[in-house]
Amino acid sequence: MNFSELNLHTALSRAVKAEGYVQPTPIQELSIPLVMQGRDVLGCAQTGTGKTAAFALPVLHQLLTSPRRGKWRFIRALVLAPTRELAIQIGKSFEAYSAFTNLRGTVIYGGVSQHPQTRALQRGVDILVATPGRLIDLIGQGYVKLGRVQTFILDEADRMLDMGFIHDIKRIGMLLPEKRQTLLFSATVAPTIRHLAGELLHEPEEVSTAPSATTVESIDQSIMMVERPEKIGLLIRLIQEKNIDRTLVFSRTKFGADKIVRKLTKADIPASAIHGNKSQNKRQAALTAFKRGRVRVLVATDIASRGLDIEAVSHVINYDIPNEPEAYVHRIGRTGRAGAQGIAISFCSPEERKDLFSIQKLIHQRVPVLSDSGKELGHTEELFATPKRKPQRPKKRFGQQPPRGARRNRRRGKRKPAQPRLG
Ligand code: AMP
Repeated sequence: MNFSELNLHTALSRAVKAEGYVQPTPIQELSIPLVMQGRDVLGCAQTGTGKTAAFALPVLHQLLTSPRRGKWRFIRALVLAPTRELAIQIGKSFEAYSAFTNLRGTVIYGGVSQHPQTRALQRGVDILVATPGRLIDLIGQGYVKLGRVQTFILDEADRMLDMGFIHDIKRIGMLLPEKRQTLLFSATVAPTIRHLAGELLHEPEEVSTAPSATTVESIDQSIMMVERPEKIGLLIRLIQEKNIDRTLVFSRTKFGADKIVRKLTKADIPASAIHGNKSQNKRQAALTAFKRGRVRVLVATDIASRGLDIEAVSHVINYDIPNEPEAYVHRIGRTGRAGAQGIAISFCSPEERKDLFSIQKLIHQRVPVLSDSGKELGHTEELFATPKRKPQRPKKRFGQQPPRGARRNRRRGKRKPAQPRLG
Protein backbone atom coordinates (compact mmCIF):
# COMPACT_ATOMS: atom_id res chain seq x y z
CA MET A 1 0.00 0.00 0.00
CA ASN A 2 1.06 3.53 -0.75
CA PHE A 3 0.33 6.69 1.29
CA SER A 4 -1.58 8.16 -1.67
CA GLU A 5 -4.19 5.38 -1.34
CA LEU A 6 -5.10 6.67 2.11
CA ASN A 7 -6.46 9.91 0.60
CA LEU A 8 -4.93 12.14 3.21
CA HIS A 9 -5.26 15.92 2.86
CA THR A 10 -2.69 17.20 0.34
CA ALA A 11 -0.87 19.21 3.04
CA LEU A 12 -0.37 15.98 4.99
CA SER A 13 0.74 13.98 1.95
CA ARG A 14 3.34 16.66 1.39
CA ALA A 15 4.55 16.38 4.99
CA VAL A 16 4.69 12.59 4.81
CA LYS A 17 6.80 12.89 1.68
CA ALA A 18 9.05 15.45 3.34
CA GLU A 19 9.55 13.01 6.25
CA GLY A 20 10.70 10.41 3.72
CA TYR A 21 7.89 7.92 4.41
CA VAL A 22 7.01 5.87 1.36
CA GLN A 23 4.65 3.23 2.66
CA PRO A 24 2.43 3.26 5.71
CA THR A 25 3.47 0.84 8.44
CA PRO A 26 0.98 -1.96 9.30
CA ILE A 27 -0.56 -0.05 12.22
CA GLN A 28 -0.93 3.05 10.03
CA GLU A 29 -2.53 1.06 7.24
CA LEU A 30 -5.07 -0.33 9.68
CA SER A 31 -5.90 2.65 11.82
CA ILE A 32 -5.68 5.69 9.49
CA PRO A 33 -8.83 4.80 7.48
CA LEU A 34 -10.79 3.98 10.65
CA VAL A 35 -9.86 7.21 12.38
CA MET A 36 -10.67 9.17 9.22
CA GLN A 37 -14.15 7.60 9.29
CA GLY A 38 -14.60 8.87 12.83
CA ARG A 39 -14.50 5.48 14.53
CA ASP A 40 -13.18 4.91 18.05
CA VAL A 41 -10.04 2.78 17.94
CA LEU A 42 -8.34 0.50 20.44
CA GLY A 43 -4.85 0.02 19.04
CA CYS A 44 -2.34 -2.49 20.27
CA ALA A 45 1.05 -1.26 19.15
CA GLN A 46 4.26 -0.21 20.76
CA THR A 47 6.53 2.73 20.09
CA GLY A 48 8.67 2.11 17.05
CA THR A 49 5.84 0.77 14.92
CA GLY A 50 4.86 4.20 13.58
CA LYS A 51 1.86 4.51 15.89
CA THR A 52 2.22 8.27 16.40
CA ALA A 53 1.57 8.91 12.71
CA ALA A 54 -1.17 6.25 12.86
CA PHE A 55 -3.23 8.61 15.00
CA ALA A 56 -1.68 12.02 14.25
CA LEU A 57 -2.19 11.95 10.47
CA PRO A 58 -5.91 11.08 10.46
CA VAL A 59 -6.60 13.46 13.36
CA LEU A 60 -4.91 16.29 11.46
CA HIS A 61 -6.85 15.24 8.37
CA GLN A 62 -10.11 15.64 10.26
CA LEU A 63 -9.09 19.02 11.65
CA LEU A 64 -8.24 20.20 8.15
CA THR A 65 -11.38 18.91 6.51
CA SER A 66 -13.73 20.33 9.15
CA PRO A 67 -12.31 23.80 9.76
CA ARG A 68 -13.31 25.56 12.93
CA ARG A 69 -15.97 28.19 12.83
CA GLY A 70 -15.23 31.59 14.29
CA LYS A 71 -12.09 33.54 14.86
CA TRP A 72 -10.72 31.90 17.99
CA ARG A 73 -8.78 28.69 18.19
CA PHE A 74 -9.85 26.12 20.72
CA ILE A 75 -8.57 22.69 21.64
CA ARG A 76 -10.05 20.20 19.20
CA ALA A 77 -7.63 17.32 19.69
CA LEU A 78 -6.20 16.28 23.04
CA VAL A 79 -3.38 13.73 23.34
CA LEU A 80 -2.52 12.33 26.75
CA ALA A 81 0.91 10.73 27.21
CA PRO A 82 2.49 9.20 30.34
CA THR A 83 5.91 10.86 30.27
CA ARG A 84 7.34 14.24 29.43
CA GLU A 85 9.68 12.73 26.87
CA LEU A 86 6.89 10.98 25.04
CA ALA A 87 4.73 14.10 25.14
CA ILE A 88 7.54 16.18 23.63
CA GLN A 89 8.11 13.55 20.98
CA ILE A 90 4.44 13.39 20.04
CA GLY A 91 4.40 17.19 19.89
CA LYS A 92 7.35 17.11 17.48
CA SER A 93 5.59 14.56 15.29
CA PHE A 94 2.46 16.72 15.14
CA GLU A 95 4.64 19.69 14.27
CA ALA A 96 6.32 17.79 11.43
CA TYR A 97 3.08 16.40 10.01
CA SER A 98 1.29 19.76 10.19
CA ALA A 99 4.22 21.73 8.76
CA PHE A 100 2.24 22.73 5.64
CA THR A 101 -0.98 23.65 7.46
CA ASN A 102 -2.01 26.55 9.65
CA LEU A 103 -2.95 24.30 12.58
CA ARG A 104 -1.30 25.08 15.86
CA GLY A 105 -0.40 22.85 18.78
CA THR A 106 1.50 22.88 22.02
CA VAL A 107 2.85 20.46 24.60
CA ILE A 108 2.39 20.79 28.36
CA TYR A 109 4.16 18.70 31.02
CA GLY A 110 5.29 19.05 34.59
CA GLY A 111 8.72 19.62 36.11
CA VAL A 112 9.24 22.96 34.35
CA SER A 113 7.85 26.47 34.68
CA GLN A 114 4.27 26.70 33.50
CA HIS A 115 4.53 30.24 32.06
CA PRO A 116 5.71 29.44 28.51
CA GLN A 117 3.02 26.75 28.43
CA THR A 118 0.21 29.01 29.61
CA ARG A 119 1.31 31.72 27.16
CA ALA A 120 1.07 29.22 24.30
CA LEU A 121 -2.36 28.14 25.53
CA GLN A 122 -3.55 31.73 25.71
CA ARG A 123 -2.50 32.31 22.10
CA GLY A 124 -4.85 29.44 21.20
CA VAL A 125 -4.13 25.92 20.00
CA ASP A 126 -5.95 23.31 17.94
CA ILE A 127 -3.98 20.37 19.31
CA LEU A 128 -2.85 19.89 22.89
CA VAL A 129 -0.40 17.17 23.93
CA ALA A 130 -0.19 16.77 27.70
CA THR A 131 0.92 14.65 30.61
CA PRO A 132 -1.96 14.07 33.04
CA GLY A 133 -0.64 15.93 36.11
CA ARG A 134 0.14 19.24 34.43
CA LEU A 135 -3.06 19.07 32.41
CA ILE A 136 -5.20 18.75 35.54
CA ASP A 137 -3.21 21.52 37.16
CA LEU A 138 -3.78 23.92 34.27
CA ILE A 139 -7.44 22.94 33.98
CA GLY A 140 -7.76 23.85 37.67
CA GLN A 141 -6.17 27.24 37.00
CA GLY A 142 -8.55 27.85 34.11
CA TYR A 143 -5.97 27.83 31.31
CA VAL A 144 -7.34 24.71 29.61
CA LYS A 145 -10.92 24.13 28.53
CA LEU A 146 -11.81 20.73 27.18
CA GLY A 147 -15.46 21.35 26.33
CA ARG A 148 -14.92 21.43 22.56
CA VAL A 149 -12.51 18.52 22.13
CA GLN A 150 -13.48 16.38 19.14
CA THR A 151 -10.80 13.71 19.42
CA PHE A 152 -9.22 12.38 22.59
CA ILE A 153 -6.12 10.19 22.27
CA LEU A 154 -4.60 8.17 25.08
CA ASP A 155 -1.12 7.02 24.16
CA GLU A 156 0.74 4.23 25.98
CA ALA A 157 -2.30 3.66 28.14
CA ASP A 158 -0.74 0.59 29.76
CA ARG A 159 2.16 2.66 31.04
CA MET A 160 -0.22 5.35 32.28
CA LEU A 161 -2.01 2.78 34.39
CA ASP A 162 1.32 1.39 35.63
CA MET A 163 2.24 4.90 36.71
CA GLY A 164 -0.98 5.30 38.66
CA PHE A 165 -2.73 7.81 36.39
CA ILE A 166 -6.06 6.00 36.36
CA HIS A 167 -7.92 8.59 38.46
CA ASP A 168 -6.45 11.48 36.49
CA ILE A 169 -7.55 9.84 33.24
CA LYS A 170 -11.06 9.36 34.56
CA ARG A 171 -11.25 12.96 35.76
CA ILE A 172 -10.11 14.22 32.38
CA GLY A 173 -12.57 11.86 30.65
CA MET A 174 -15.40 13.45 32.61
CA LEU A 175 -14.48 16.93 31.41
CA LEU A 176 -14.63 15.94 27.75
CA PRO A 177 -17.78 16.20 25.65
CA GLU A 178 -19.86 13.01 25.58
CA LYS A 179 -19.91 13.12 21.81
CA ARG A 180 -16.31 12.74 20.74
CA GLN A 181 -13.95 10.32 19.10
CA THR A 182 -11.57 8.41 21.38
CA LEU A 183 -8.43 6.53 20.39
CA LEU A 184 -6.56 4.41 22.88
CA PHE A 185 -3.13 2.97 22.15
CA SER A 186 -1.34 0.50 24.34
CA ALA A 187 1.57 -1.92 23.93
CA THR A 188 -0.46 -4.67 25.55
CA VAL A 189 -4.19 -5.09 25.90
CA ALA A 190 -4.40 -6.41 29.45
CA PRO A 191 -7.80 -6.78 31.18
CA THR A 192 -7.29 -3.41 32.93
CA ILE A 193 -6.87 -1.73 29.54
CA ARG A 194 -9.97 -3.43 28.24
CA HIS A 195 -11.85 -2.17 31.28
CA LEU A 196 -10.65 1.39 30.70
CA ALA A 197 -11.52 1.11 27.00
CA GLY A 198 -14.99 -0.04 28.01
CA GLU A 199 -15.44 3.18 30.01
CA LEU A 200 -13.99 5.63 27.52
CA LEU A 201 -14.52 4.23 24.04
CA HIS A 202 -17.71 3.77 22.08
CA GLU A 203 -17.95 0.58 20.01
CA PRO A 204 -14.25 0.66 19.20
CA GLU A 205 -12.57 -1.08 16.30
CA GLU A 206 -9.57 -3.03 17.48
CA VAL A 207 -6.38 -2.85 15.51
CA SER A 208 -3.19 -4.57 16.35
CA THR A 209 0.21 -5.12 14.86
CA ALA A 210 2.13 -8.32 15.47
CA PRO A 211 2.13 -9.17 19.20
CA SER A 212 4.88 -7.26 20.92
CA ALA A 213 7.09 -10.26 21.49
CA THR A 214 7.39 -11.01 17.80
CA THR A 215 8.29 -7.49 16.74
CA VAL A 216 11.76 -8.00 18.11
CA GLU A 217 12.65 -10.69 15.61
CA SER A 218 14.80 -8.38 13.51
CA ILE A 219 17.04 -7.69 16.50
CA ASP A 220 20.26 -9.61 16.97
CA GLN A 221 19.95 -10.59 20.64
CA SER A 222 22.39 -12.25 23.01
CA ILE A 223 22.70 -12.88 26.74
CA MET A 224 26.05 -12.67 28.56
CA MET A 225 26.40 -14.46 31.87
CA VAL A 226 28.46 -12.31 34.23
CA GLU A 227 28.87 -11.83 37.97
CA ARG A 228 27.32 -8.57 39.18
CA PRO A 229 30.62 -6.85 40.18
CA GLU A 230 32.12 -7.70 36.78
CA LYS A 231 29.34 -5.99 34.81
CA ILE A 232 30.89 -2.54 34.62
CA GLY A 233 34.21 -3.94 33.34
CA LEU A 234 32.36 -5.95 30.70
CA LEU A 235 30.39 -2.88 29.60
CA ILE A 236 33.52 -0.78 29.21
CA ARG A 237 35.28 -3.59 27.34
CA LEU A 238 32.38 -4.12 24.94
CA ILE A 239 32.01 -0.43 24.14
CA GLN A 240 35.74 -0.12 23.51
CA GLU A 241 36.34 -3.39 21.67
CA LYS A 242 33.24 -3.29 19.50
CA ASN A 243 33.66 0.42 18.87
CA ILE A 244 30.07 1.03 19.85
CA ASP A 245 29.34 4.69 19.43
CA ARG A 246 25.61 5.06 20.06
CA THR A 247 24.23 2.78 22.65
CA LEU A 248 21.40 2.87 25.12
CA VAL A 249 22.18 1.17 28.40
CA PHE A 250 19.33 0.15 30.67
CA SER A 251 19.63 0.17 34.41
CA ARG A 252 16.95 -1.02 36.79
CA THR A 253 17.47 1.81 39.24
CA LYS A 254 18.16 5.53 39.06
CA PHE A 255 21.05 5.16 41.48
CA GLY A 256 22.51 2.40 39.31
CA ALA A 257 22.17 4.58 36.20
CA ASP A 258 24.18 7.39 37.80
CA LYS A 259 26.84 4.96 38.96
CA ILE A 260 27.26 3.53 35.45
CA VAL A 261 27.65 7.05 34.06
CA ARG A 262 30.35 7.86 36.63
CA LYS A 263 32.34 4.72 35.81
CA LEU A 264 32.04 5.18 32.05
CA THR A 265 33.10 8.81 32.27
CA LYS A 266 36.11 7.75 34.32
CA ALA A 267 37.00 5.31 31.54
CA ASP A 268 36.85 8.19 29.00
CA ILE A 269 33.55 7.12 27.50
CA PRO A 270 31.22 10.14 27.34
CA ALA A 271 27.90 9.14 28.88
CA SER A 272 24.84 10.66 30.50
CA ALA A 273 21.83 9.42 32.37
CA ILE A 274 18.15 10.00 31.85
CA HIS A 275 15.77 9.15 34.68
CA GLY A 276 12.98 10.53 36.80
CA ASN A 277 15.23 12.21 39.38
CA LYS A 278 16.73 14.53 36.78
CA SER A 279 15.07 17.83 36.05
CA GLN A 280 13.27 18.11 32.74
CA ASN A 281 15.98 20.41 31.38
CA LYS A 282 18.74 17.98 32.32
CA ARG A 283 16.89 15.10 30.73
CA GLN A 284 16.34 17.04 27.54
CA ALA A 285 19.98 18.15 27.49
CA ALA A 286 21.13 14.53 27.89
CA LEU A 287 18.86 13.43 25.10
CA THR A 288 20.03 16.20 22.76
CA ALA A 289 23.68 15.47 23.54
CA PHE A 290 23.09 11.83 22.69
CA LYS A 291 21.14 12.56 19.53
CA ARG A 292 23.87 14.92 18.31
CA GLY A 293 26.57 12.36 19.09
CA ARG A 294 28.24 14.35 21.89
CA VAL A 295 27.76 11.43 24.26
CA ARG A 296 28.20 7.83 23.13
CA VAL A 297 26.17 6.22 25.85
CA LEU A 298 22.78 7.12 27.26
CA VAL A 299 21.95 5.29 30.46
CA ALA A 300 18.22 5.08 31.08
CA THR A 301 15.68 3.57 33.44
CA ASP A 302 12.55 1.91 32.07
CA ILE A 303 10.09 4.70 32.75
CA ALA A 304 12.32 7.43 31.36
CA SER A 305 13.02 5.41 28.24
CA ARG A 306 9.47 4.66 27.27
CA GLY A 307 8.58 6.14 23.95
CA LEU A 308 12.01 7.61 23.34
CA ASP A 309 12.47 7.82 19.62
CA ILE A 310 16.14 7.99 18.98
CA GLU A 311 17.14 7.15 15.49
CA ALA A 312 20.06 4.89 14.67
CA VAL A 313 20.77 3.37 18.04
CA SER A 314 23.00 0.51 17.04
CA HIS A 315 23.02 -1.24 20.42
CA VAL A 316 20.84 -1.68 23.44
CA ILE A 317 22.61 -3.08 26.47
CA ASN A 318 20.55 -4.39 29.36
CA TYR A 319 22.91 -3.82 32.26
CA ASP A 320 20.26 -5.42 34.45
CA ILE A 321 17.71 -7.98 33.40
CA PRO A 322 14.27 -6.40 33.84
CA ASN A 323 11.82 -8.00 36.30
CA GLU A 324 8.94 -7.63 33.89
CA PRO A 325 9.39 -9.61 30.70
CA GLU A 326 7.46 -6.98 28.71
CA ALA A 327 10.08 -4.41 29.71
CA TYR A 328 12.68 -6.56 27.94
CA VAL A 329 10.71 -6.29 24.72
CA HIS A 330 10.24 -2.54 25.14
CA ARG A 331 13.89 -1.99 25.93
CA ILE A 332 15.33 -3.90 23.01
CA GLY A 333 12.71 -2.32 20.75
CA ARG A 334 14.72 0.91 21.05
CA THR A 335 17.22 -0.55 18.59
CA GLY A 336 16.32 -1.88 15.17
CA ARG A 337 13.65 0.78 14.72
CA ALA A 338 11.49 0.86 11.56
CA GLY A 339 13.02 -2.35 10.24
CA ALA A 340 16.70 -1.47 10.75
CA GLN A 341 18.92 -4.21 12.18
CA GLY A 342 19.81 -3.62 15.81
CA ILE A 343 21.87 -5.42 18.43
CA ALA A 344 20.71 -6.13 21.97
CA ILE A 345 23.02 -7.56 24.62
CA SER A 346 21.76 -8.44 28.10
CA PHE A 347 24.00 -8.94 31.12
CA CYS A 348 22.73 -11.64 33.44
CA SER A 349 24.16 -12.30 36.88
CA PRO A 350 23.37 -15.54 38.73
CA GLU A 351 20.68 -13.80 40.82
CA GLU A 352 18.90 -12.66 37.68
CA ARG A 353 18.61 -16.07 36.02
CA LYS A 354 15.03 -16.49 37.22
CA ASP A 355 13.93 -13.41 35.25
CA LEU A 356 15.25 -14.95 32.06
CA PHE A 357 12.76 -17.79 32.37
CA SER A 358 9.81 -15.41 32.13
CA ILE A 359 11.45 -13.51 29.28
CA GLN A 360 11.98 -16.73 27.36
CA LYS A 361 8.38 -17.70 28.00
CA LEU A 362 7.27 -14.42 26.40
CA ILE A 363 9.61 -14.20 23.41
CA HIS A 364 9.90 -17.91 22.52
CA GLN A 365 13.15 -17.26 20.75
CA ARG A 366 16.45 -19.05 20.58
CA VAL A 367 18.81 -16.37 21.91
CA PRO A 368 22.50 -17.30 22.23
CA VAL A 369 23.85 -17.33 25.78
CA LEU A 370 27.54 -16.43 26.13
CA SER A 371 30.04 -16.31 28.95
CA ASP A 372 31.55 -12.91 29.82
CA SER A 373 34.54 -13.82 27.63
CA GLY A 374 32.21 -14.42 24.68
CA LYS A 375 32.28 -18.23 24.75
CA GLU A 376 29.02 -19.75 23.58
CA LEU A 377 27.27 -21.63 26.40
CA GLY A 378 24.09 -22.57 24.57
CA HIS A 379 20.83 -20.78 23.85
CA THR A 380 17.87 -19.64 25.90
CA GLU A 381 15.55 -22.33 24.58
CA GLU A 382 17.62 -25.06 26.23
CA LEU A 383 18.86 -23.09 29.23
CA PHE A 384 15.88 -20.97 30.19
CA ALA A 385 12.78 -22.70 28.92
CA THR A 386 10.31 -23.28 31.75
CA PRO A 387 10.61 -26.94 32.65
CA LYS A 388 7.72 -28.99 31.46
CA ARG A 389 5.56 -30.50 34.22
CA LYS A 390 6.77 -33.86 35.38
CA PRO A 391 5.04 -36.51 33.33
CA GLN A 392 2.43 -38.33 35.39
CA ARG A 393 3.29 -41.88 36.26
CA PRO A 394 1.52 -43.98 33.64
CA LYS A 395 -1.51 -45.65 35.05
CA LYS A 396 -1.07 -49.35 35.47
CA ARG A 397 -2.98 -51.13 32.83
CA PHE A 398 -5.69 -53.62 33.69
CA GLY A 399 -4.07 -56.96 34.06
CA GLN A 400 -0.98 -55.45 35.68
CA GLN A 401 -2.87 -54.58 38.83
CA PRO A 402 -1.40 -55.97 42.00
CA PRO A 403 -3.45 -58.77 43.51
CA ARG A 404 -6.57 -57.60 45.37
CA GLY A 405 -5.85 -56.38 48.86
CA ALA A 406 -2.09 -56.12 48.26
CA ARG A 407 -2.15 -52.33 48.07
CA ARG A 408 -4.24 -52.10 51.25
CA ASN A 409 -1.91 -54.47 53.01
CA ARG A 410 1.09 -52.39 51.96
CA ARG A 411 -0.58 -49.28 53.38
CA ARG A 412 -1.24 -51.05 56.64
CA GLY A 413 2.35 -52.25 56.76
CA LYS A 414 1.39 -55.89 56.38
CA ARG A 415 3.95 -57.96 54.66
CA LYS A 416 3.67 -61.12 52.79
CA PRO A 417 4.54 -63.93 55.19
CA ALA A 418 8.07 -65.10 54.58
CA GLN A 419 8.28 -68.18 52.47
CA PRO A 420 9.41 -71.18 54.52
CA ARG A 421 12.86 -72.22 53.53
CA LEU A 422 13.10 -75.42 51.73
CA GLY A 423 15.50 -78.05 52.74
P1 AMP B 1 6.64 5.78 16.52
O1 AMP B 1 6.25 4.34 16.65
O2 AMP B 1 5.48 6.64 16.23
O3 AMP B 1 7.46 6.25 17.67
O4 AMP B 1 7.58 5.90 15.21
C1 AMP B 1 8.84 5.32 15.14
C2 AMP B 1 9.68 5.90 14.01
O5 AMP B 1 9.21 5.47 12.74
C3 AMP B 1 9.71 7.42 13.95
O6 AMP B 1 11.06 7.82 13.79
C4 AMP B 1 8.91 7.77 12.74
O7 AMP B 1 9.41 8.95 12.12
C5 AMP B 1 9.14 6.58 11.84
N1 AMP B 1 8.01 6.30 10.93
C6 AMP B 1 6.70 6.40 11.21
N2 AMP B 1 5.96 6.05 10.15
C7 AMP B 1 6.82 5.70 9.18
C8 AMP B 1 6.66 5.23 7.83
N3 AMP B 1 5.46 5.04 7.28
N4 AMP B 1 7.78 4.98 7.11
C9 AMP B 1 8.99 5.15 7.68
N5 AMP B 1 9.22 5.59 8.93
C10 AMP B 1 8.15 5.87 9.68
